[in-house]
Amino acid sequence: MDFKSTIRTVPDYPRTGIMFRDVSTLMADAKAFSAAVEKLSAPFEKFEISKVAGIDARGFILGGAIAVRLNAGFLPLRKPGKLPYRTFSESYELEYGSDALHMHVDGVKPGERVLLVDDLIATGGTAEAGVKLLRRGRADIVSAVFLVDLPDLGGARRVRNMGVEVKALVS
Ligand code: AMP
Repeated sequence: MDFKSTIRTVPDYPRTGIMFRDVSTLMADAKAFSAAVEKLSAPFEKFEISKVAGIDARGFILGGAIAVRLNAGFLPLRKPGKLPYRTFSESYELEYGSDALHMHVDGVKPGERVLLVDDLIATGGTAEAGVKLLRRGRADIVSAVFLVDLPDLGGARRVRNMGVEVKALVS
């Protein structure tokens, strides 16, 4: 399966100079979406993953599908102001300013085996916040998986340096 050809690139979105990798076109393609979910799930079949943590918002779509495939539960890591119960929060730097991710304080149990999922890893700031949140809940992070890695931005290396394995469908 040629996944790259199913991902649309939109130049200068959301700002001049950014090449936006639009995975909505991959997700809209039934064969590509199911093959992508299969490729990112199958390596973890024997790892007894009990929860998939998906990052707001495209990570919910991919992570939900992977969770069902692995017979795991789903945990949303959300932007501020979205989760109703008590949360842990971790902020991270963006090119301009900062943002934060939240996780319900009872989102994971200590030692629970978790797979972290997002659509794309660029600088790795978002994924790093996800790793920190899961570790605050003392989860055992088995791996972090993405549809797309932008290797020039060093995110995968950054997350591996935190001791978390990284897997991506396309670079
Ligand atoms: P980062 O924290 O720099 O690794 O950025 C990753 C997050 O920003 C992911 O949730 C992506 O959805 C989004 N993102 C960053 N850069 C791009 C890009 N070039 N195309 C599409 N999404 C991006």
